[in-house]
Amino acid sequence: MASCDVSGPCFFYNHLVPDKPHTTEYLRKQYCEGELFTECALHWIAKTYGMAKVPKYLYPDDIYEIPDFEAEEIRL
Ligand code: SF4
Repeated sequence: MASCDVSGPCFFYNHLVPDKPHTTEYLRKQYCEGELFTECALHWIAKTYGMAKVPKYLYPDDIYEIPDFEAEEIRL
């Protein structure tokens, strides 16, 4: 059961990542179903810009990718 309040439409939470199943399972336990969801990179973007702006390549712990994301991918 997810702790995260945006797990319903979250691509990472709802899709398999076939090449990294163990990493994905670990991150889901720590972030999506644990207490770290407020520190998740995808959560931050979803809450700030909307879930539609969350890139499918991001992982929850890619928090340091956000500055690049903001510079290149936000089109407001
Ligand atoms: S990846 Fe992030 S935004 Fe998605 S369900 Fe997990 S904690 Fe929430």
